[in-house]
Amino acid sequence: MVEVRRAQTYAGFCGGVKRAWNRAVKASQATDGPVLLSGKMIHNTPAMRELASMGVREATAADLEGETTGQTYVMRAHGEGPAAFEAARARGFNVIDATCPIVTAVQKIAVQLEEDGFQVVLFGHRDHPEARATVAYTKRGLIIESTEDARALPYYPKLASIAQTTVLQADYVDVVAALRERADVFEDRGRVCGWTLHAQDEALALAREVDAMVVVGGRDSSNTIQLVRVCETACPTFHIESPDELQAGWFAASSVVGVVAGASTREVDIQRVIAFVSALPSPVAA
Ligand code: SF4
Repeated sequence: MVEVRRAQTYAGFCGGVKRAWNRAVKASQATDGPVLLSGKMIHNTPAMRELASMGVREATAADLEGETTGQTYVMRAHGEGPAAFEAARARGFNVIDATCPIVTAVQKIAVQLEEDGFQVVLFGHRDHPEARATVAYTKRGLIIESTEDARALPYYPKLASIAQTTVLQADYVDVVAALRERADVFEDRGRVCGWTLHAQDEALALAREVDAMVVVGGRDSSNTIQLVRVCETACPTFHIESPDELQAGWFAASSVVGVVAGASTREVDIQRVIAFVSALPSPVAA
């Protein structure tokens, strides 16, 4: 049989996702009507399907146009900009803020830096809801995605950097080095979340001691994509969103397989992956 080793500490729901999940589930138990989400609450399709089975789903344009008074509207873990909160409250929704507190802290830092006269630059993904929401709390904040973007910035008297909480720390360090050259006064206030950092470290350590890795997590999940990048530096790595995607042939030459998971992956999916891989014959026995 193939030996499976899983990340012991940082695999599956992080604190922010657990908190958002619990708030949405509790809201669904307290109402007969649907619980609406401001967007994809977490970037994980199986988890979103489970929420849907409890009456928790993404709000549609029709939901926002119809009668809204008293309906529950949950702001996702990635956060929403101030305009989204104002619009939801103005329409009479019962708004539940499920923004991860770490993301909220970054939003506050961005506001404070701008008040202190800094041009705020966030390193992240322009189309990621967390990056967009954080910058929406500033008047002039910018999102950059690479060191090339950093080098292309104009020169500022005061420049400060922050980071999307799930970027790869090594990438952020490179971007900061480039940003330092773009201002008289530079401040680095970036904060990759501790779960993300530890998960990346744990995944790399595991990837170095196995023959292949499975990373379970959403295809559009930023922290999962970083785990894939980290593991790929050490061994063949397979990124799946659902255990149904697993193929026995991937592990034909593997005696030991590692399993890690993104911050929005359910434990049930991790367990299914472990069960599938550990039931495979090892190459020696096959
Ligand atoms: S990965 Fe970190 S910042 Fe993002 S929701 Fe989880 S705990 Fe919060």
